[in-house]
Amino acid sequence: MSAKTILIVEDEKAIRDMLVFNLGRAGYTLREAVDGKSARTMVADRFPDLILMDWMLPDVSGLELTRVFKREEATRDIPVIMLTARVEEDDRVAGLEGGADDYIVKPFSPRELLARINAVMRRYSSGEDEVISIGGLALDAAGHRVTVGEQSISLGPTEYRLLSFFMHHPDRVYSRTQLLDRVWGGNVYVEERTVDVHIRRLRKALTDSGCDKLIQTVRGAGYRFSAREA
Ligand code: CA
Repeated sequence: MSAKTILIVEDEKAIRDMLVFNLGRAGYTLREAVDGKSARTMVADRFPDLILMDWMLPDVSGLELTRVFKREEATRDIPVIMLTARVEEDDRVAGLEGGADDYIVKPFSPRELLARINAVMRRYSSGEDEVISIGGLALDAAGHRVTVGEQSISLGPTEYRLLSFFMHHPDRVYSRTQLLDRVWGGNVYVEERTVDVHIRRLRKALTDSGCDKLIQTVRGAGYRFSAREA
């Protein structure tokens, strides 16, 4: 299996460098975001296996951003460990209520952080080898791979998320608004017809295998993923 990816969301370069050095040495692949905006872009681009979230970011509080990720279906299963200079018990409680999976106070030792990361990763790893198969189409969440038989299907990040959502919620109709909420999350500036654009791309990618018919248009209502006849 490929190396696990950790997204570091931290505006202080010295701390980022320290984390990149130590976590890189421990075998993790690291990505770095310097503020909330870039963190959201990077998460939307590709889900990390874990997020290290600084509390005090230039544009948004790490606590708020964690709440956003944990509220959205697409990102809620990404574990988050908060990094903070705060030591108050109230803050600790707020951090965990905001959805963070754990919490570590600066300054911390790399060894302590690694122990926390490994513990949180273990908690999440139970469902990780799950492969969902519907109508001949298989989605391997761990490998981030979609296959039909031996054939691998190449998808863009949004198409992958859309398909993943559908395969986790088959046989139900979702309106464009619901799909925007659950697949795109809080990006309110996205228009409803964006959904149609990505549905079209997804169907196109699945056409050769004949699996495009799994994505059914329900007139006046939205879309449904189903192996049953529409
Ligand atoms: Ca900071």
